[in-house]
Amino acid sequence: MTDPTPDWCSVPNLEWDTPMYRLAVAQLDQTARRMGLDENIWERLRTPQRAHVVSFPFRRDDYERVMTVFGYRVQHLLTMGPTKGGIRYDLDVNLGETTALSMWMTWKCAIVGLPFGGAKGGIRICPRELSQRELQRITRRYTSEIIELIGPDTDIPAPDLGTNEQVMAWIMDTYSQQKGFAVPGVVTGKPIEIGGSHGRLEATGRGVISCVIEALRHRGLDMAGSTIAIQGFGNVARAAATIAQQLGARVVAVSDVAGGVHLPEGLDVYAVGEWLDAQGELKGYPGAEPVTNAELLELPCDVLIPAAIQNQITGENAHRLRCHFVVEGANGPTSLEADAILRQRGVIVVPDILANAGGVTVSYFEWVQGSQQFFWSEEEVNAKLISIMQRAYHAVSEKAEREGVDLRTAALILGIGRVAEAKRRRGVFP
Ligand code: GLU
Repeated sequence: MTDPTPDWCSVPNLEWDTPMYRLAVAQLDQTARRMGLDENIWERLRTPQRAHVVSFPFRRDDYERVMTVFGYRVQHLLTMGPTKGGIRYDLDVNLGETTALSMWMTWKCAIVGLPFGGAKGGIRICPRELSQRELQRITRRYTSEIIELIGPDTDIPAPDLGTNEQVMAWIMDTYSQQKGFAVPGVVTGKPIEIGGSHGRLEATGRGVISCVIEALRHRGLDMAGSTIAIQGFGNVARAAATIAQQLGARVVAVSDVAGGVHLPEGLDVYAVGEWLDAQGELKGYPGAEPVTNAELLELPCDVLIPAAIQNQITGENAHRLRCHFVVEGANGPTSLEADAILRQRGVIVVPDILANAGGVTVSYFEWVQGSQQFFWSEEEVNAKLISIMQRAYHAVSEKAEREGVDLRTAALILGIGRVAEAKRRRGVFP
């Protein structure tokens, strides 16, 4: 039998070769082989259509130190419409990571049926070390560096790790100042006052919980009384924890960068949130046991939601997980080896490109509402979001059953298949 892997698969893509990029490409390659994907399209999808690297000066508050910092904006696929994806501020940001994340955005948008290709951007800095004034300055300078790339019809940023609605407001303002009029559609995840959508802030967490509900229901289980451990307590994790508690689940653990808190009977998520807002960290929260971020992953629970950063569940710890379901709120939290171990152990993994698609779905609603100047109520937004997430979950889970594969492979087959078909229809220019 001939090896179904084409020669060009072994050629390293040097510019963006990093562990996270290799994970994204390995997922694509595995799926493409299984699908028998047209090799011309397969090869095209392995690298982004556009990748921009900028370096620029950033003046610290003391007015003495001027740092050179690096920023990125990668557009993976321009076939489906404008490109879409978040901007992250984090010390791990580099070209390979940004490219991997842009590729996952492509599949994510295709799985939930949005008219976007994937993009991602970021700056390699630690936002926790910057003052608000510094954050504003660095955001405005980065925006002006990528101003030719972004726009409501071309590429639309949104919040991601280390950024929030205030950062989106500064991007929108910087862009609008250059155009000479307000352009709210250049970003999503904006504050409501300048054209943001109701429900956007909680959208990713709400989408994650929709997937938890569907995954449990599919196996005859109920959200009420189930136990959920959540790694993280940022935008995604906090919304997921709050909604899970409202639905009667027991949230047994949450965490921040420094570590987590664990209470087997279930935490009071509101009280944990109030503590964090007042103290600035979870550490010291009374009435719960401290745990490390690594220990949190191994706590006994029904559902584990990694909703912080990438590469948390690996070949090293996957066999020690004591949950029945992993529902990925973060992007890329599970390595390829871990995926295989979990599959073999019968742990069901709802993949990031499905589970966390609620954020970009409400971003799409925000973009649509803005372009029509007609805004929906929070109930309308939430109802439309839940219906899209349920439809996507069922499409993926039916595909998984039909093809005898896990949910990640099924989601990739759906997403890659839709994109490949669009590429085939558009053809090659000239
Ligand atoms: N950063 C989010 C994600 O990874 C949202 C992207 C968006 O809304 O465009 O899905």
